[in-house]
Parts: sequence; structure tokens; C-alpha cells
Amino acid sequence: MNFEFSEEQVLLRKTVRQFVDSEIIPHIADWEVKGSFDPIIWERLASLGLMGVCIPEQYGGSGMDYNSLAIVCEELERGDTAFRTAVSVHTGLNSMTILQWGTEEQKKKYLEPQAKGEKIGAFGLTEPGAGSDVAAMSTVAVSDGDHYILNGQKTWISLCDAADHFIVFAYTDKSKKHHGISAFIVERTMPGFSSKAIKGKYGIKSGNTGEIFFENMKVPKENLLGEEGEGFKIAMSALDNGRFTVAAGAAGLSLACLEASVKYAKERETFGKEIGRHQLVQQMIAKMEAGLQMSRLLVYRVGELKNKGVRNTRETSLAKWQACDFANKAADDAVQIHGAYGYSDEYPVARYLRNSKAPVIYEGTREIHTVMQAEYVLGYREDKKLNKMLPKWPFEE
Ligand SMILES: Cc1cc2nc3c(=O)[nH]c(=O)nc-3n(C[C@H](O)[C@H](O)[C@H](O)COP(=O)(O)OP(=O)(O)OC[C@H]3O[C@@H](n4cnc5c(N)ncnc54)[C@H](O)[C@@H]3O)c2cc1C
Repeated sequence: MNFEFSEEQVLLRKTVRQFVDSEIIPHIADWEVKGSFDPIIWERLASLGLMGVCIPEQYGGSGMDYNSLAIVCEELERGDTAFRTAVSVHTGLNSMTILQWGTEEQKKKYLEPQAKGEKIGAFGLTEPGAGSDVAAMSTVAVSDGDHYILNGQKTWISLCDAADHFIVFAYTDKSKKHHGISAFIVERTMPGFSSKAIKGKYGIKSGNTGEIFFENMKVPKENLLGEEGEGFKIAMSALDNGRFTVAAGAAGLSLACLEASVKYAKERETFGKEIGRHQLVQQMIAKMEAGLQMSRLLVYRVGELKNKGVRNTRETSLAKWQACDFANKAADDAVQIHGAYGYSDEYPVARYLRNSKAPVIYEGTREIHTVMQAEYVLGYREDKKLNKMLPKWPFEE
């Protein structure tokens, strides 16, 4: 075990933190009101190499290790959840999935421009009638010569209006249940594609989330990702990467809550002393610190397993579940520490609380991860080796 960060990782954290402090935090309140962030942020993320942090250089990425992606996510969510969500979806759910499952042609055509930040990737699994229960999906893909014809709808899709490419899932053979789902790379410009943002979200207000629709959409056969019938397996392995980034981001949200709470606890006085001197306030702060440090340990362990090329579904699920719960509790306590001022837009903690909720729901709800962990311990579930794994780090030339 090595608990030390490399010089590159320390520098990366510093770079992302400076970027967040100067280019995200000062604008986030305006972007929340507007309901979207300035698209220039995409270019800035790309110029810093943050759109393909752990994608090999041969595919246009920065070639850093998987824990470097965790550092980026942690630091981005210290600023706002919307930016970590964007990187989770673009890199974790989309690019890393193409890296793992894609053909050389798909990597050249889709992964490379995504890793360079020239194109944005997203991920469409959830449907109005199928969230936790993925196999309840109704989107279908029918083979037609050298194409598939896709019909259906996905909902709650992050970057629905911003992304150029989507990995989506559809039944190619419903009679085979899970084994009849296939994965496809689709482009926004394919005729029959449309998208529509969801308005009135509870949190992540500057982020773009909504529906995507496929109406007799012709998808070339070469855009099938993996084999026909491998879609469920691909979706679950994509979630191993997405959940890792969500967990890392949650550690960043815990850090943001801690920083805001410590600052306020030293400014505000009651009963003749700083509120930080009251033991019940200290208890909330101590729990935030514990949650932050435990989240980091769980997350970096997953990153290390990824670096070694070891399957990590069980460890990722635990990290995602716990880190998101810690962040949600930290945000709740951060509002509490701020008293009535925490209940307004004057301080960032109300935003943290709103933002902390979605990660407890997406990429496997708290309940789904609870059940998964129990099933692993009881021996009802085990992870088998996949026929395609993410490349180990350091990447081979
Ligand atoms: C901001 C945001 C962004 C999102 N981005 C994306 C995206 O980019 N791509 C994408 O595909 N999806 C995305 N989602 C969707 C998200 O992944 C789903 O909302 C999530 O999987 C839960 O599905 P559901 O909302 O249909 O809830 P349901 O599955 O209907 O669950 C409802 C409740 O029942 C509980 N429940 C369900 N099954 C069980 C069970 N077996 N045991 C115990 N309890 C259970 C759940 O825990 C939950 O409390 C996003 C969601 C949000 C909020």
C-alpha cells in the first residue's frame, strides 16, 4: 500500500483547485439562477487536460492514472457538483467505457476527440419506467441491413443538450431479458435524435439534465459497442467507472462543507464565544472530517485497484454509497452550523445540501448499494472476471 500522492498528482490537485477558485466559485451563484454554466468552461477544462485525465495519450488523453481522475473530481465538486457531474458523465461513463469496450475504429472516431475535449460524451440508461430496474427498459433496436433502427426514450440524462455523443442501451432481443440488451454509440446529429432539458430541478441547478428521444433513428452497425447482448454487462462496468468519480466528488463536497463550516464556526459568536467552542458544533465538524477522510480512503483504494487492472465493482459500490451519504450528512450539518444564514443564498451551504442529494440517487441509489453490499457479504453476489477490462496503469505504449 502506498498512501502518498506523486508530484504530478499534487500539482494536478493544485491546478484544479486554482481553476475552481478563480473560474467556478465566483460565478456559480449567477449560473445557478441562469440554469446553465458558461460553455467556455468546457474549453478551459480541455486546455488543462481535464477532459481525458486517465485516457491514454495515444487516444488524445493526458495518460495519468485513475486516482488522478479521482483528484480532479474531488476538486471540481469542492466548487460545484455540476462540473464533477459533467466530468463523471463525459469521462467516467462514456470515454472510459469506450476505452474498455470499444473497437480501435470507435476509439479513434469517438474517444480521441472526447479525450481532447473537442467533443462531449454522455450516457443514456435510465428511462421513465426503468431506473434501478434497468431490465424494465423499453427502448428497442431492430436490425435493418447495415443499420439498427432505434425507438425509445431516455430520461434524467446529464448533458442531454450539451453532448455530441451518447452511449445508449436498447433491447435487441427482449425475450433474453438482461442478455438481450445491447449498447450503442449514437450521435446527436443522427436523424431521429432529439433532446429536451428538465426544468425545476431541486439541485445541480447550473447543470444540464433532461430527456433524449430516438424516433426511427438509424444507427450504423459499426456503432454497436461490444457484442449484441453485452449491453447490460457494459452498462454495469460503465457504472464502476462513473460511481468511482461520483464517490470522489462526494469527498470534495464533504471538504467544501467542512471548509465553510470551520470558517463560520470561527466568525459567529453566541453566549460570549465562537460557536466552534461549543461541543455540539464540534461534533458536527468532527463527523465531517471523519466522513471526508473515510471517503478518500475508500475512493483511492478503488483507484489503486483500477491501476492494477483488478475488477472493483464491490469496492466501488461501497465507496459510492458511503461517500455520498457522508457528503449528504455533511451538507445537512453545514446548514445547521450556519443557523438561519445557512438557509439562504448568502452562504454556499444551502446549495451544497441541494447538490448532495442527487448523488445519493443516481448511479445506484443508497438502497441499491445497501442491498449490493449485503449480498456480497452473504455470498449471494460475486464479481466474475469480465472479458474486457480497463487497461492497467501505467498504460502500455
Ligand atoms: C441529477 C440527475 C442526473 C442523472 N443523470 C443520469 C445520466 O446521465 N444517465 C442516466 O442513465 N441516468 C441518470 N440519472 C438517473 C438515475 O440514475 C436514476 O434516477 C436512478 O438510477 C434511480 O432510478 P429512479 O429515479 O427511476 O428510481 P427508482 O428505481 O424508481 O427507485 C425509487 C425508490 O425505490 C427504491 N428502490 C428501487 N428498487 C429497490 C430495491 N430493489 N430495493 C430497495 N429499494 C429499491 C430506490 O432506492 C428509490 O428510493 C440521473 C438522475 C439525476 C437525479
